[in-house]
Amino acid sequence: MNQDIPMLHTPIKDLIIASTKVAHVQLGNSLEHALLVLMKSGYSAIPVLDHQYRLHGTISTNQIINKTLGLERFEFEQMSVHTVDEVMDTKIPRLKDTDRFMKALELCINHPFVCIEDDQQIFAGIVTRKSILALAYRHFRNLPHTSA
Ligand code: AMP
Repeated sequence: MNQDIPMLHTPIKDLIIASTKVAHVQLGNSLEHALLVLMKSGYSAIPVLDHQYRLHGTISTNQIINKTLGLERFEFEQMSVHTVDEVMDTKIPRLKDTDRFMKALELCINHPFVCIEDDQQIFAGIVTRKSILALAYRHFRNLPHTSA
C-alpha cells in the first residue's frame, strides 16, 4: 500500500539541512558559550559535536538554565564553570541518509529535529519536523479533490 504514496519514497538526502548550515557547539565548550550560540541562532536546541565533527548529543536553552538554578536565585556565574558535556542530552534519535522516509516521519513526532550521521558517525546535518510537514502539505495539496 505504501508503494502508492510517492511522498513515502522521498530520500532523506532531499530533506537535509547540511552540517555547514547548522549551528552547533563542541564538547568542552562552556555553558555560557553554548547559551550565546543558542540565543544568537534563535534555536532552542542545537547539536554537540567533537573536533572530528562526530555527533555526541544536543543541548538546549532549558538544560543550561536548569543547571544554573540555585535554591533562591539563578546562579549565572555557574555558566562559565560548567561545560556542555555535563548537561547535554546524549540519548537522541539518529538517522542515516539511507534510512527510509517513514523512520524520519516517526522520529519527528516527538522531536522538532533529528540529526543525520554517516557510517563513520560524522555529523551530516539535520532533518526538521518543519521540512517533513511542508513535504506532507505539498503532497496533500496536490491530491485530487474528493467529495466527502
Ligand atoms: P524549525 O523546524 O526550522 O523550526 O527547526 C526546528 C528545530 O531544529 C530548531 O528549534 C532547532 O533546534 C533545529 N534547527 C533548525 N535549523 C537549524 C540550524 N540551521 N542550526 C541549528 N539547529 C537548527
